[in-house]
Amino acid sequence: MGIIIKNTEEIEILREGGKRLARILDMVAKKVVPGISAKELDVYAEKLIRDGGDIPAFLNYTPGGHVKPYPASLCVSVNNQVVHGIPTAKTILKEGDIVSLDLGLKHKGLFTDHAVTVAVGKISKKDQELLQITRESLYAGIAETRGGNRVGDIGAAIQEFAKAKKYGIVKILSGHGVGKYIHEDPFVPNYGKRGTKEKLVPGMVIAIEPMFNLGTDEVVLDKDGYTFRTADGLKSAHFEHTILITDGEPEILTAL
Ligand code: MG
Repeated sequence: MGIIIKNTEEIEILREGGKRLARILDMVAKKVVPGISAKELDVYAEKLIRDGGDIPAFLNYTPGGHVKPYPASLCVSVNNQVVHGIPTAKTILKEGDIVSLDLGLKHKGLFTDHAVTVAVGKISKKDQELLQITRESLYAGIAETRGGNRVGDIGAAIQEFAKAKKYGIVKILSGHGVGKYIHEDPFVPNYGKRGTKEKLVPGMVIAIEPMFNLGTDEVVLDKDGYTFRTADGLKSAHFEHTILITDGEPEILTAL
């Protein structure tokens, strides 16, 4: 497909879409309490998106390599689930869980993508640290996301955080270009070598989304065809922002 550079008008739309998405995901995250179901969070997220006149990006989307469309607006991935957890009424969040909420929104035809992992009630020190380090790695990756740098610089920055804590970095899933489509070129892996891969140029928009595991980096795909879990059953965290590359500082389109 090649990398799609966005023009000024498209960037304005992505800015507005990103702002809406950030506000909505924050509202959904604040609903997370012990006893709530994943399905309730999904219904709430979809309502908020549609109330704003926008479209949930993931609902009925069929990613490459899949046969069935994704059946929900929100991905809800609990504990050892890494990403793409399908929200059901049977999944009831409980004290001590961590839950990744991943949401995409289509505003005036253009897509933004955003995820956070949040605590359900009180969580362990170890899990708090996993969330904090994964989040910090995202911001370290974002700091490298500037015109003239390369995709490998982002992965290299993220990777250092996982290495320091001996976390597993999920390698078969990665960040990606975003905007006209949910998934565009380039792939943006959460590991890499500085100075390698595609050059970042102003007008590119990418989603950066580190996924760190407490244990192995290996993941397995569930029978449902979507949910990725850690192979060893240990917990996993995931944070994601949609970023605009400029001549100067990167612009986080999905910032609150
Ligand atoms: Mg994404």
